[in-house]
Amino acid sequence: MDPSPDTTAVTSGRDDSRSLAQPLWPSTVWASDGLDDANSRATSVRPGEFYGRYANPTVAMFEDAVARLEGAEAALAFSSGMGAVSSVILALCSAGSHVVAHDNLYGGTLAFLEGPCARLGITTTFVDASVPGALAGAVRPGVTAVVLVETPSNPCLSLVDLDEVGAIKGPFTVVDSTVATPLGQQPLAHGVDLVVHSATKGIGGHNDAMVGVIAGEQDLIEAVWSYAVYHGAVASPHDALNALRGIRTLPVRLARQSATAADLARRLEEHSQVTAVHYPGLASHPQHHLALSQMRHHGTLVSFDVSGGRRSACQVMESLELVLPATSFGGPETLMCHPATSTHVGLSPDALASAGISDSLLRMSIGLEHPDDIWADLSRALSGSRA
Ligand SMILES: *Cc1c(COP(=O)(O)O)cnc(C)c1O
Repeated sequence: MDPSPDTTAVTSGRDDSRSLAQPLWPSTVWASDGLDDANSRATSVRPGEFYGRYANPTVAMFEDAVARLEGAEAALAFSSGMGAVSSVILALCSAGSHVVAHDNLYGGTLAFLEGPCARLGITTTFVDASVPGALAGAVRPGVTAVVLVETPSNPCLSLVDLDEVGAIKGPFTVVDSTVATPLGQQPLAHGVDLVVHSATKGIGGHNDAMVGVIAGEQDLIEAVWSYAVYHGAVASPHDALNALRGIRTLPVRLARQSATAADLARRLEEHSQVTAVHYPGLASHPQHHLALSQMRHHGTLVSFDVSGGRRSACQVMESLELVLPATSFGGPETLMCHPATSTHVGLSPDALASAGISDSLLRMSIGLEHPDDIWADLSRALSGSRA
């Protein structure tokens, strides 16, 4: 019997020493055993003990843990989630390549596809990937190199059917699974080629590590590495060590934060000032059945619309005391942001509308505080009163 992922989070990514905490190797360079050895390392794929941009033993332990949790042959870490996303696109595309992407993507990914990629001759068709068949319908055989989706999407938490993405043949299929974490769902088990995470979020989980990571079949990871070694967005061993430490407690943090998120989503649904709540774990979520079939946890993000538009959304944020106004997610502190003026501020009004990001939308990252304390702060802020 395979161990539970809860156990794998604790047992994976270890070297064979007796140390329970994994060692930090800050070295950028290793001595070789002479010219032949140096030559063989310089010409190998992902050589150990050569030069830090090629590989690092501490980073490799983090990569091993992610690969095990995703059920993948291999993983490759980056200096950030965007380092991972941009390296994957530029490794798999050439001038003239076409990308099919979800229209509800992380703001940085959207801006990267619309800016630098377009300038380099890589064009993107954005589709509402939550509509069955929309992704496959936009694929141009022989031209589309990558299909890229995010599920659950950020900030509106719509879902994409992973079986549908996995069934697309021809282009490489890539799923940004940051919001779910490796414990929330397993895109590779649905036939998807590559899973991407910003480990800066839930995996690291303490707001103290900037890391990205991808996982998939060995050959594909090596192909991405062959580009990434020149792109240079390599993970710092210090941050990879923090991210690996985060993995040890990811199962309990995720269970607690998801349970609080579900509880708060239900309470928000009942509140007279709230016009809509977006959370895949709610029976009212339009894709709740998909959430039940492909997700093990429904995640730590909850988004909702308030009545009264931007003014009242801003008022709510300004009245909060425990919940902090900040972007990012997955850490111990509960955070709130106003996507239209922060994480997604670069989008045109049309793009905001098609992504479902209204002026009255607020996104909350649920932390580890007691749910009653978060609710006391939130309900007071919603009622327009200050403590
Ligand atoms: C944060 C985020 C990214 C980018 O990650 P960084 O570590 O900030 O570079 C990509 N995708 C999603 C879904 C994210 O939330």
